[in-house]
Amino acid sequence: MPRAVKPEATADAPASVGMRLTRQRQILLDLIDKTGRHLDAESLYHLAREKDPKLNRVTVYRTLKLLKEGGLVDELDLMHQAGEQHYYETRRKQEHAHVICLSCGKVEEFFGEPLQKLRRQIELHFGFQIVLARTEVGGYCSHCQTMRAREMEEAASAVAPVKRAPAARVRRQR
Ligand SMILES: [Zn+2]
Ligand SMILES: [Zn+2]
Repeated sequence: MPRAVKPEATADAPASVGMRLTRQRQILLDLIDKTGRHLDAESLYHLAREKDPKLNRVTVYRTLKLLKEGGLVDELDLMHQAGEQHYYETRRKQEHAHVICLSCGKVEEFFGEPLQKLRRQIELHFGFQIVLARTEVGGYCSHCQTMRAREMEEAASAVAPVKRAPAARVRRQR
């Protein structure tokens, strides 16, 4: 007797991409979906190993590539703040911009209507069909701005004491 298949069983799975989710893909996808953060491949590898100690690095890297190609995760470089590192995040999240501090590397996410508006304007302007949009903004967070201002003040005051009235005392020589 054939077992009844629950129609909801695959409701969550991205069947549309026609990708069979093997165990390692499911582990990685779950990790990326659940963590609200932007993790690099190496961190994901260590987290995945906690779930399945048999996973090796090559499989994890290859799986990440497949997930990206299947449109299930986004690969970000976050302004190369930490070198050539790439980060992964779920595509189930609402579109957002990444706001990256170039000093401490902190990453904030900006969600909001302006992004959708920009998307619509670009589509209208070029008659373009946008599939993927990535917005990155680099700068200094409020903490780092304070630190930088202080550093600048210190640097300025280190130079300042050399204030001497020049030519105030001219030694007369005969
Ligand atoms: Zn900062
Ligand atoms: Zn993000």
